[in-house]
Amino acid sequence: MSDTRIDAEPGTVYLVGSGPGDPDLLTVKAKRLLEECDVVLHDKLPGPEIIDRLPEDRREDVGKRAGGERTPQSEINERLVELAREGKSVVRLKGGDSFVFGRGGEEAEYLAAHEVPFEVVPAVTSAIAAPAVAGIPVTHRDHASSVSFVTGHEDPTKAESAVDWDALAATGGTIVVLMGVGRLPDYTTALLEAGMAPETPVALVERGTWPGQQVATGTLETIVEARDEAGIEPPAVTVIGDVAGTRESVVEFLQNDAGATDDGADGGT
Ligand code: SAH
Repeated sequence: MSDTRIDAEPGTVYLVGSGPGDPDLLTVKAKRLLEECDVVLHDKLPGPEIIDRLPEDRREDVGKRAGGERTPQSEINERLVELAREGKSVVRLKGGDSFVFGRGGEEAEYLAAHEVPFEVVPAVTSAIAAPAVAGIPVTHRDHASSVSFVTGHEDPTKAESAVDWDALAATGGTIVVLMGVGRLPDYTTALLEAGMAPETPVALVERGTWPGQQVATGTLETIVEARDEAGIEPPAVTVIGDVAGTRESVVEFLQNDAGATDDGADGGT
């Protein structure tokens, strides 16, 4: 590689996605900025392999506060502005891509409103990468011509739920749910009630590309049991749709998840 440097600018904030967690999946730009910047603000989602390599004297964990609760976004926003105004070059490092359920948009708006120069450094989102390393393409010419990325964080039975599960069921495309381990029973039920076939394949990919990556597969009807059997915990993505079934035909030769435990109550092996 060339030795061209990016030269992280003083007084500038870089909204950088880390990719799903494997340090080799950082972009070249992210890696250089992490090396050059004065300070990195991060939470836990970039994963242990990336976080542990950040120099301790140049990083701030803004994921959780001392009491264990989440740092309010307003505090993070203020800290970004404060550091930039001190003349620091600041990397705000988020797991996956900062603009996919990463609050990067809110941070960009805040920085702009406070006239702080910033740059967005796009990255590999876990919404695509976690399925991929489990052998699941989010689109496939024979199985899905669209894909939707949705949050599983909300209660689907609430009338004001921002996610329209009925409409998603009707697309016939792939549905990738982030932050959706806990509410898996709620939205699988919502999708079944919306008329999706009970045998629709579903896969859960936990800690995609991290050490300890785990995959559980099943159907809309069986995936909750598979989740519990495999002990799937966040962070994990849920892939719903026929593409999830194609994993079976490639997994034997797939080197990405050699260490993954596999396949809960899907009736097959
Ligand atoms: N900006 C992130 C998403 C943040 S929301 C991105 O683009 O990937 C947090 C959710 O991301 C988690 O609940 C989980 O659903 C997903 N996630 C992030 N990293 C993951 C990984 N390595 N494997 C599986 N899911 C992951």
